[in-house]
Amino acid sequence: MKKIAVLTSGGDSPGMNAAVRAVVRKGIHDGIEVYGIYQGYAGLMEGNIKKLELGSVGDIIHRGGTILYTARSEEFKKDESQHKAIKNLRDLGIEGLVVIGGDGSYRGAAKLTEKGFPCIGLPGTIDNDIPGTDYTIGFDTALNTVIESIDKIRDTATSHDRTFIIEVMGRHAGDIALFAGLSVGAETILIPERQYELDSVVKKLNKGIERGKKHSIIVLAEGVCSANELAQKMKEKYSLETRISVLGHMQRGGSPTGFDRVLASRLGARAVELLQEGKSGRAIGMQKQQIVDHDIIEILKQKDPLPEGVYKLSQELSI
Ligand code: ADP
Repeated sequence: MKKIAVLTSGGDSPGMNAAVRAVVRKGIHDGIEVYGIYQGYAGLMEGNIKKLELGSVGDIIHRGGTILYTARSEEFKKDESQHKAIKNLRDLGIEGLVVIGGDGSYRGAAKLTEKGFPCIGLPGTIDNDIPGTDYTIGFDTALNTVIESIDKIRDTATSHDRTFIIEVMGRHAGDIALFAGLSVGAETILIPERQYELDSVVKKLNKGIERGKKHSIIVLAEGVCSANELAQKMKEKYSLETRISVLGHMQRGGSPTGFDRVLASRLGARAVELLQEGKSGRAIGMQKQQIVDHDIIEILKQKDPLPEGVYKLSQELSI
């Protein structure tokens, strides 16, 4: 394999740049030309493709976002768009593609592979919702951003004896809420993977108040409901006043943590190796500290499991 390309797609996440850098540098190290596709699949269809050099990825490992930009494209879901994308790649002599993104981006990569163009998927999303990897690129950074924010909110919650509902991202997954909730010692963690009874949430808060605790933190995953909705229910049903804080897009930004930089570098380099080994349609991840790869179609059929041990512990420690 002499020429490969890399793109970032879907929601951006901190560490995507480190992954792009690893693909480019490992490729050049191994004597391969590496092309960057700008604006994800939209750019691929339009032929927005440029050759990247060692210097193109200098000074980016510590930056959030993605230098290749990212985009969402409904158009790309059509067969004819995918054929056009493959033609654009083949016209430049490109033989393999590394796709960094979430499960939607994986679907696109699977489609291109099915149509005969070798693709490798790297899990780039803060949500940690991709099966076949213990962690996705960006999760650790987002987690630390959330922890830092909640620590600050706790200072003011303590000073004013208030109950705060903090809504965090994660789409349909509760990993950010669960890990952040455990890390900040939240009184309650609400995640979409587990049903909750508002009665017991309020009972627990009241039990705390009886013990002399006047401030509480509820970490709410966006996949459950909005902080507004929960606050309203608590007020209407239990006359419980809460303050809300929706952390929003700041969770997707920032300089990646050391963990995310190392993860992105390892996965990016492995993607280049897999293409050189003639493999395609693989999703790369890290499980039990080992770099692994799985069939991308199988990964798309699976549901990402909630780390049960962490959930159980969060319940045991927040009594
Ligand atoms: P993420 O990769 O973060 O999950 P999206 O779900 O928005 O983000 O997917 C990113 C892009 O991947 C979409 O805009 C689309 O171009 C492409 N994609 C998603 N699903 C499919 C599909 N079923 N077939 C082909 N391409 C898809």
